[in-house]
Amino acid sequence: MKKSFMVIGLGRFGSNIAKTLVSMNCDVLAVDINEDCVSAISSYVPHCVIADTTKERVLVELGAKSMDHVVVAIGANLQASILTIVNLKHLGVNNITVRADQESHKEVYLTLGATDVIIPEESAAVSLANQIISDSILDYHEVASGYALAKINIGRSINENLIELDLRNNYGINIVGLIKENGEFYIPRGTDKLQENEIAVVVGTRKNIKKIDEFLN
Ligand code: ADP
Repeated sequence: MKKSFMVIGLGRFGSNIAKTLVSMNCDVLAVDINEDCVSAISSYVPHCVIADTTKERVLVELGAKSMDHVVVAIGANLQASILTIVNLKHLGVNNITVRADQESHKEVYLTLGATDVIIPEESAAVSLANQIISDSILDYHEVASGYALAKINIGRSINENLIELDLRNNYGINIVGLIKENGEFYIPRGTDKLQENEIAVVVGTRKNIKKIDEFLN
């Protein structure tokens, strides 16, 4: 079944989330208090409305209760974010992802009932810093505190297969996928070997990702 989403706050962050979800064929209701923000997105997102989500009655009318997931991307307006989260929680919405502007707001949103809080600038900065540390780390995403999923270019072919390398025990990482030179992705078997110029998709701590990057290059 198609998942339904409500995206509240259509600045750069919220509007990109709404557009991406629509392009992935999800049901999306995009909401903003500002008419210009709503008209800017209306050609990409079929269902968008001008509304103030700090009012619980408004969220009831918009059907927030039946949404699978609500993204609160109001950002700078702390008071509006807080009231919106409280209303959503009160209506029994299970999944509430909130975009925060500052670390200090994160705890407040979680206490109020947000299921997930993200600080986009922080995530983007951490990703970028980790990518530019090494020429062979092509992509880096934190998946939990201290843990990341990274794409590492393999600079040399390695004779031992994955069972023999025992990367989980020797480097504290797992290779969850390999990307061939032609772009084809595959999930490796223990008997596979790492080939020069393939890309390894690895999961582990930042320190261990750095260690495996050094080993592969
Ligand atoms: P970005 O950094 O993503 O561009 P903005 O702070 O510019 O973020 O966007 C936040 C959006 O949230 C604005 O478009 C603003 O109109 C909207 N917004 C603020 N308060 C409310 C509210 N009470 N209800 C709905 N949308 C709101």
